[in-house]
Amino acid sequence: MSEQRTTTRLDLFIDRMVSQRACLDAAIAKTAGRAEPVFELGLGNGRTFHHMRERIRDRDIYVFERAVASHPDSTPAEELTILGDVRDTLPAACSRFPVGASLIHADLGGHSREKNDMFARMVSPLVEPLLSVGGLMVSSDRMYFDALEEQPLPDGAVPGRCYIYQRI
Ligand code: SAM
Repeated sequence: MSEQRTTTRLDLFIDRMVSQRACLDAAIAKTAGRAEPVFELGLGNGRTFHHMRERIRDRDIYVFERAVASHPDSTPAEELTILGDVRDTLPAACSRFPVGASLIHADLGGHSREKNDMFARMVSPLVEPLLSVGGLMVSSDRMYFDALEEQPLPDGAVPGRCYIYQRI
């Protein structure tokens, strides 16, 4: 008799990490050579920032974070750190970056899927104008955009654990 296996929190965590890397690597490759900067929304420990900084050598990476508490190896330079709540800093960034970003990665959520979804609904219209034409947005949460189109996931990403959007 086969035993039904439940999905554990460890499974979900691993799926999220594997998906983040697969989606980021695909988005980095697809936006390589573009001139516009990259935005990291939510620094946390700095793991995804470190991955992006190691893989992206041709563009500045601006980090939006309300309180920097990252690993010392994964802390952005002060001039590339946009400190504050994204509800204030994203609207303010529109005049500073009129052409937008070539790649935006967002990992702003916590442990509650319900709260993350509410936050994603609120923050989507603030992120949308900051993506340049042809640019890609990678998110750990489903976003609610008007004009950006959801893209197929790359090999290795788990559906529902990461999302990719493009401004066509
Ligand atoms: N991707 C990161 C990593 O690999 O280490 C983890 C990011 S962590 C899950 C989420 C981060 O988003 C936290 O550092 C938190 O302070 C930040 N954050 C959440 N809501 C925010 C807000 N409204 N404004 C600015 N930063 C926020």
